[in-house]
Amino acid sequence: MLSKTIYMDYQATTPCDKRVLNEMIPYFCEKFGNPHSSSHRMGTEAAKAVERARKQIAELIHADDEKSIIFTSGATESNNLAIQGIARFYKEKGNRIITSAIEHKCVLEACNYLKNEGFDVVILPVKSNGIVDIDALKEAINDKTILVSVMTVNNEIGTIQPIDEISRMCREHGVLFHTDAAQAVGKIDVDVSKVDLMSISGHKIYGPKGIGALYVRTKPRVRLTPLFQGGGQERGLRSGTLATPLCVGIGTACAIAQKEMAEERLRLLKLKDYFLNKIFDNLPKVYLNGDREQRIPGCINLSFDGIEGEGIMLGMPEICVSSGSACTSASLEPSYVLKAISVREDLAHSSLRIGFGRFTTQEEVEYAASKIIEVVNRLREMSPLW
Ligand SMILES: *Cc1c(COP(=O)(O)O)cnc(C)c1O
Repeated sequence: MLSKTIYMDYQATTPCDKRVLNEMIPYFCEKFGNPHSSSHRMGTEAAKAVERARKQIAELIHADDEKSIIFTSGATESNNLAIQGIARFYKEKGNRIITSAIEHKCVLEACNYLKNEGFDVVILPVKSNGIVDIDALKEAINDKTILVSVMTVNNEIGTIQPIDEISRMCREHGVLFHTDAAQAVGKIDVDVSKVDLMSISGHKIYGPKGIGALYVRTKPRVRLTPLFQGGGQERGLRSGTLATPLCVGIGTACAIAQKEMAEERLRLLKLKDYFLNKIFDNLPKVYLNGDREQRIPGCINLSFDGIEGEGIMLGMPEICVSSGSACTSASLEPSYVLKAISVREDLAHSSLRIGFGRFTTQEEVEYAASKIIEVVNRLREMSPLW
């Protein structure tokens, strides 16, 4: 029996890899120079570390120009910079922005905010398998459209979106394409040649919290209006002194992901298959939310007919999973993502997101599966709905 806490919420955040932390440490108290102070060796030492990190990020996402990587405070800022920045810079060209119903709140709210400035926001429907409806996109793109923003991998159900098809459609119409790849980078091969802007988060890829990056295409150059004014760092797109240790952290996290991604994906696939087989073999009326095939292995969203997701969590406090998305699970509203893919309201309330990642072991997965089966059976016996 495992008595320790089992972390299975890798979509909310990931632990910082010790290898990442070790690379960061010297940049706090010893190599603390301002990376923008190019007049002395302490500054250039920090600048070198920042530029190495930029290169490590660029390599992971196959960006051939390191200058296309802009450091930010996280994917929330990257998404806001991309969406608001494009909207304001290109507003003379048109006012339509297209996004999807299952984007992260920060994308939806950034778009929503722009309505106040006269932008026309179209929210694409998503099919019941959790994949964006391409036909709806085709219909929504008009000559006033300046930006399409669709995530690469969804954070609640793990589905992989048809980036290639969306990219082709955007290119055909001369529309810029931004993707929130916070849940994709380091897990699947992402290729920036398909997009114009891409958001990345440090703490979703075993790096530190408080750092992210935005890929902004340089050839041909994509322009942005910055969110705030200052010293003009990061090509004038994101002023402020860079946090050298955090930059080193996200860079190292990318380098490790690049080396280990392929093998890790296979390991997680096996864990996922083991887990799902065990659950489906032992529990009737459990449903996997999101497409069976077009998904990443580490994000499993299940609905357990007849009981509440919150109830299951209370029955197994040693296992950290999530019901609804972390940011909205304080409210009793069911997840808007599950709503968007037409999951029945009671089944949306009965859902759990179980996330596997780099430090998840076979033993933990076995324990979690048994525990979930036990708790679900117990709750169902007591449930009037069952
Ligand atoms: C976590 C997450 C974000 C927000 O990232 P932060 O770095 O925490 O700001 C945005 N989009 C997706 C898909 C995420 O999973």
